[in-house]
Amino acid sequence: MSKLVDQFQRKFEYLRLSVTDVCNFKCTYCLPNGYHREHKKQFLSLVEISNLVQGFAQLGTKKVRITGGEPSLRRDFVDIIETVKNTQGIEKVATTTNGFRMAKSVADWKAAGLDAINVSMDSLDANMFHQITGENLLTRVMAGIDAAFAAGFSQVKVNTVLMKRLNAHELDTFLAWIKPRNIQLRFIELMQTGDNHALFQAHHISGSVIMKQLINQGWVEKVRQATDGPARVFCHSDYSGEIGLIMPYESHFCDSCNRLRVSSLGRLHLCLFGEQGTELRDLLQTSEHSEALQQRLMEALKTKRASHFLQQGELGGTVHLASIGG
Ligand code: SAM
Ligand code: SF4
Repeated sequence: MSKLVDQFQRKFEYLRLSVTDVCNFKCTYCLPNGYHREHKKQFLSLVEISNLVQGFAQLGTKKVRITGGEPSLRRDFVDIIETVKNTQGIEKVATTTNGFRMAKSVADWKAAGLDAINVSMDSLDANMFHQITGENLLTRVMAGIDAAFAAGFSQVKVNTVLMKRLNAHELDTFLAWIKPRNIQLRFIELMQTGDNHALFQAHHISGSVIMKQLINQGWVEKVRQATDGPARVFCHSDYSGEIGLIMPYESHFCDSCNRLRVSSLGRLHLCLFGEQGTELRDLLQTSEHSEALQQRLMEALKTKRASHFLQQGELGGTVHLASIGG
């Protein structure tokens, strides 16, 4: 039974764990100038990750998403997947990746126990993909998605950050692409962070624009299960794929929050746009501190707020999402 329940009766059985801040892409909304190391600290080690996930699992966490930065740049990425998967109580291990290493390595990730994969792909047009991510690698990421299906993933989720004048007009191309493929394409509204104010002003567009187009074309919203996260998912009988909409600026978005985050330096974040985080690292060196770790997690959860205050322009301490894993 989950002990990670907050004062608003939300249950947190889902941990998003960042294992590195490093990234090799330069997405305009995240790391437009590429990754620059701003500290000398080491990212969480395999032992620290193991102790951390065990602590969470003992409190009822069932699903872990390994994210970053670009998580697959870690040399021990396969070991991380295996360690998380082998933790008692963890039922599902997922990752979010920019797809750079997928074509080569996704079969190894699957063999290590990876259950689900999200790939970021902001455009199906090679030039636009290059413009948004700073890398001319659409073909490579596409090959990675094919490799994921070939490795045995029955569904792949694709994350697309929705941006006015850049990719928001590409809906029909995306729909044609997912028609024969079991892809859940998730449009994520561009979120404002400390670093991207001008871009946000120029390109933010509400996901409701896409929702109207979908409904006009006969798409139907799927019924949400109690354990579903904040994405609203639409399906159509003519399509193998689905469309998800993630609209953090909608009221009540946070009502279905079901996730906690830990940064690559071992700080607990109760919200993507929360606060400076709670230090956990001093309790991760040995499994003997597991009780104390669990106590600290439960204490911190008591302070989780009902929602973010993005609409009011309150961005918390989040400079860009690569720092705590989007
Ligand atoms: N590097 C991996 C990737 O890009 O998939 C994992 C980390 S990335 C921070 C996780 C997700 O956050 C990606 O799908 C990315 O598109 C999304 N993201 C990053 N910054 C964002 C922003 N400002 N608004 C909305 N989504 C953002
Ligand atoms: Fe890297 Fe992912 Fe950020 Fe793009 S969104 S810069 S791939 S961490």
